[in-house]
Amino acid sequence: MAAESANQIVPPLAQPVTSVWGVGSERAKLLAKLNIFTVEDLLLHKPRRYEDRRKFLSIRELQVKETATVRGKIVAAGIKRWKKGTRAMFECVFDDGTALLHCRWWQAQPWMEDYFAVGREFVVFGKVESLRPRTIDHPETELVEPEDDEFVHVNRIAPIHPLTEGLTARVMRTLVWRALEKYEADITDPWEAGRVAPRALSLESENRRARSEAPYHLPSRANAVRMIQFPEAFSDVEIARRRLALDEFIVLQKQIRERRKKFEANSKALPAGGDNHLIKPFLSALGFKLTDAQTRVLREIRADMRGEFPMRRLLQGDVGSGKTAVAACAALMALESGFNIALMAPTEILAEQHFRNFEKWFGPLGVKVELQTGNRKTSNAERRTPNAEGDARAQYATRHTPHATLFIGTHALLTGGFEIPNLGLVIIDEQHKFGVTQREQLVRKGHYPHLLVMTATPIPRTLGLTLYGELDFSAIDEMPPGRGKVKTLVRAAEKLPKVWEFLRGKLATGRQAYVVYPRVEDTGETGIKAVTKEFANLTKLLAPYRVALLHGRLSGREKEQVMTEFRSGKAQVLLATSLIEVGVDVPNATLMLVENAEMFGLAQLHQLRGRIGRGAHESFCVLISDAGDSATRVRLKVLEQTTDGFKIAEEDLKLRGPGELLGREQSGMPNFRFGNLVEDLDLIRQAREIVAHMG
Ligand code: ADP
Ligand code: MG
Repeated sequence: MAAESANQIVPPLAQPVTSVWGVGSERAKLLAKLNIFTVEDLLLHKPRRYEDRRKFLSIRELQVKETATVRGKIVAAGIKRWKKGTRAMFECVFDDGTALLHCRWWQAQPWMEDYFAVGREFVVFGKVESLRPRTIDHPETELVEPEDDEFVHVNRIAPIHPLTEGLTARVMRTLVWRALEKYEADITDPWEAGRVAPRALSLESENRRARSEAPYHLPSRANAVRMIQFPEAFSDVEIARRRLALDEFIVLQKQIRERRKKFEANSKALPAGGDNHLIKPFLSALGFKLTDAQTRVLREIRADMRGEFPMRRLLQGDVGSGKTAVAACAALMALESGFNIALMAPTEILAEQHFRNFEKWFGPLGVKVELQTGNRKTSNAERRTPNAEGDARAQYATRHTPHATLFIGTHALLTGGFEIPNLGLVIIDEQHKFGVTQREQLVRKGHYPHLLVMTATPIPRTLGLTLYGELDFSAIDEMPPGRGKVKTLVRAAEKLPKVWEFLRGKLATGRQAYVVYPRVEDTGETGIKAVTKEFANLTKLLAPYRVALLHGRLSGREKEQVMTEFRSGKAQVLLATSLIEVGVDVPNATLMLVENAEMFGLAQLHQLRGRIGRGAHESFCVLISDAGDSATRVRLKVLEQTTDGFKIAEEDLKLRGPGELLGREQSGMPNFRFGNLVEDLDLIRQAREIVAHMG
């Protein structure tokens, strides 16, 4: 087996980049810095911009403050020193027969005098600083060498690639050109257009409308590579990019499908649809009626848990849409069928809150609930003081579901040694706070249990289809009735006195408030507030109302105490970091004040805002920011204008990119050379369709 694979020929494109003429070990080292190791890496090295060298401007035609490319010979060059010789500038003068152009580099480099030698001809690109004399500072330059490959570099749209020191644009372009000449025939399509049903290749209607001017047309992959490296028209670039992006999405979708297939082949569904004997009493004791959206999602979940394969479902619902109640019902289905359940939350506070809730809900049904955090282990069975009615119900339930237990915890549920036997269902709350690997880890704890992951960060569809592509998707798209309105205001810090006054007014009517700062401790950054530093101020400022302090450096027990104080109303104000972003549910809190709001992502602020507006009272979210630049203002204004989590998440994705949106914790984020997760929804969908048709 090993001998066989050793004999296998390396496919041409996977060969080391040294097989391109002109790449020796030195250049290979430089290319490695750009992550170019193979021929294919070189071919797919995406130009960072293009220069129209079909027509150079003459130096005489240059306009001040405009960017242009000219071509000229050096007629003078040298170092100029000033400030007693401590500073050195390099200047050279180009002549193209129409006028002279002065180019200046404010830091003279040792190599410049040799390189910019009188008589040499250069292509020069840059922004014209002045016309008297005509000057460009720090231009990009490219030596015109008297070789016979001029057609590669001029009289065309020339690619300018990302470079590294020691590799010039011209050398890079030459290498890409040579690689393309030698290997173009080896660039094959990773999927066969001919074998894919035609429907899959046509654009979906919404995109057809958007791009009606461009009839759908796919160049071959080889053509696309040529078009993106050496385009004949600027419009070639985007057509080629889309083709290459589509290939990337197809590769990813294939992986997703493989994962799913493997999983389906290895797994056996656990019949966990339940028989309603716990859900019925649960729903009648709940105190509210499930919304239509909740009910619909539960039907989907039940079908999954009775299905042929274990459930793999992502439940998305905006903050406050009632995901917990859905999780509870899903849990009860599995409990009814006699399985244990694991519910994982990203913070201890949230795990404790779930524990309290589920204990209250499930205790009377005789279901054991256990808490497993780094902080403590508790079981309601040990703590509950029995009452006669509860006991009777408990006995009934236990007879039907022997030992079935709901384990609630943080990542402590993942740590070794802790085993959950007979695990039928894994529920992950606030999924976006966990990495993909953690998700896999927890599922592997059991023998392919059902999996329900829940998130309130509305995931833009592009990300949903790539990151969570192997998951089925449900959404709670309706809020429970009777919620007070939430008003959002963006204010400058000078308005703070008024804001505090307003806040005191609300406290006087019995409401509670959150105040959020970005830092735990003062880090010396001017104007950025830290909770530990501001605590004393705030306590004084808001007296006689009590302020409680919460941040990540407190021990689990301390956090729990603080939350109890706030929840019980003993403290009226909770001063906290963004730690409270997920899950915390105190309906009497109707004010959310965030200072240094510009330090937070939109999705994060939306989550913070989700902490209020949970009761019937009108709520207010006040975002304080002094960030002067208008971009920040515009960003924050999005929150004033909409409460639609989807819109906010898409805006965040555009402004800050997927990594930021999903949090640093998110691993498994695919890296695309050509694909763009903000704009390529149509391509991602096509890739899915194409892969589905591959059979
Ligand atoms: P999230 O989706 O953000 O996790 P929660 O599950 O914490 O939301 O629910 C928010 C609040 O709404 C809770 O107090 C919960 O009891 C309440 N709730 C959930 N579903 C309903 C419903 N159908 N009708 C009324 N209130 C509900
Ligand atoms: Mg929640």
